[in-house]
Amino acid sequence: MQKTIECEFCHNHFSSASERCPHCARPGLFPNVRAADDDDERNALNRRYQEAISDAASRKTDQAAKDFEAAVTRSQAVIARSLNELQRLATSDNELYATYHQLVDAGLRLPSGDQWNTLRVLTDETLFSGYKQHIRFAALSLDRIGLHNYGECSLVLRDDMIAHRASVFEENSVVWMAKHQIKISEATDLPKGYRAVWSERVKLAVAKLSEKIQSTTRADSYSGLLLEQGATSEDDQFIEVHIWGQMTARTFEHVIVEQPQQQMSSVTLNALREKLGAVGVKMEIKS
Ligand SMILES: [Zn+2]
Repeated sequence: MQKTIECEFCHNHFSSASERCPHCARPGLFPNVRAADDDDERNALNRRYQEAISDAASRKTDQAAKDFEAAVTRSQAVIARSLNELQRLATSDNELYATYHQLVDAGLRLPSGDQWNTLRVLTDETLFSGYKQHIRFAALSLDRIGLHNYGECSLVLRDDMIAHRASVFEENSVVWMAKHQIKISEATDLPKGYRAVWSERVKLAVAKLSEKIQSTTRADSYSGLLLEQGATSEDDQFIEVHIWGQMTARTFEHVIVEQPQQQMSSVTLNALREKLGAVGVKMEIKS
């Protein structure tokens, strides 16, 4: 059942998926954040978190779990894209980072017919009912490197530009839907405790991963635990970040380009670095 919320101003009710009150048009919270902030979701996540902590205590790995928890407070949202896409974004403030659904709706991209894309559409419709065209995806990262399967450039998002409109999800949401065998009839009543608001992303990370942490787990392996690069995008292991709304190059804090293609000249790369620098984004090349 779609939840309704009360407008803080006019006190009328409206669908929690709306970004504005339809009666007085005042802006509301971001619908993905509101969904994660729901009492039932928070309580379920708290239960998972407490269970993970007591399980760690019984295995005498609670100190290690605490160290991991402290590290994840520094995690950032990272989008991985191709160098071509980065170049386009760096061109001007008018270049927006579009979502898959926007590109399809605008006729700029043909919806791909493979199974993965069909599942993506169904998943987004279920998780972001009524607002899927506004959601951008990122992965939670501790070393500022994103998922290699999506491109060689890691776009690290500025915390202050996304914290208010970002929520996090247990894993790749398509994989999660398949794993939990979600049926269409259950789409409005999904299992709870698998998403969190940005400020509580640490709880989700501990609930999900503390069982993998031993007392011998070293701090330098935390980033590989949080984000594990897979052979294909289906095998990637990560916490998915959902960000409502537009972004431009100014939304980035830092950009890391890994192994630039050889045909990309140093002149081109330097020009790119200059353009990004002009909007306050530092570019780093890793070979
Ligand atoms: Zn209102």
